[in-house]
Amino acid sequence: MIRNYADLTSYEMGQIVREETIVLIPLGAVEQHGHQAPLGTDMMIAGAMPEYIRQEMEKRDPDFPMLLFPAIPVGLSVEHMAFPGSITMKPDTYYHVLYDIAESLHTHGFRKLVFLVCHGGNRPAVELLSRQLRHDFGIYAFILSSGAFSHPEVQATISEGNSWDFHGGEMETSMVMAIRPESVKPSLSETGYKAGGYRGKNAVNFSGPAALPWMGEDLEDCHGRPIGIGGNPAGASAEKGRVILRRSAKELIPALMEIRDWEI
Ligand SMILES: [Zn+2]
Repeated sequence: MIRNYADLTSYEMGQIVREETIVLIPLGAVEQHGHQAPLGTDMMIAGAMPEYIRQEMEKRDPDFPMLLFPAIPVGLSVEHMAFPGSITMKPDTYYHVLYDIAESLHTHGFRKLVFLVCHGGNRPAVELLSRQLRHDFGIYAFILSSGAFSHPEVQATISEGNSWDFHGGEMETSMVMAIRPESVKPSLSETGYKAGGYRGKNAVNFSGPAALPWMGEDLEDCHGRPIGIGGNPAGASAEKGRVILRRSAKELIPALMEIRDWEI
């Protein structure tokens, strides 16, 4: 059965076969998402995805052994600090926050964790962490990403030209409209430019300085439209958001079933 970790009493937790139960930990962020979508976009997606996953999983296996941990609201968002309201942890702080949660879970006998990455910037820290948890505690920490943005069903809903704009564009704005419509301000909507890291000429296997176009002093150079998002969010809608959330949850089901069956 899939239940919310924080809803259980300690007594109920004592009844759970913890070594066979997956703990899903959604990882959000508080950072700018353009003029129209809220700072809490990734936090809200991290908060909502588990319920979509629960609904999809219950169709397949109502007894699926998983607990949904409360979403971690803040993550690594240093590249957005030039915009009012963005909040970031330092990478080592973030690593240790997640490490301490995982160590506590290990103390209670959990062996399988799933970090659900709802903000790409959090991923590198979680990759380092998962190896360390395996070494230190024998924990199996898996990493899944929310947002099946490239899935044909999602792409079919998105306006032309927006198909690869993952940050603060039509897709994420739609997701928030499905979750918390009152926080989206379509009248403030402006078009951004395609996000992307530095690409050196002839630079195979060379990632260059890890800068996004809207990062720090590069802000003014962002093609004159330094609003820090990709694409045009004007076509966003709650219905598109529900398609993306449902499809993203559905895409995670096979991986979760594999994790359940993983021999420890
Ligand atoms: Zn986001």
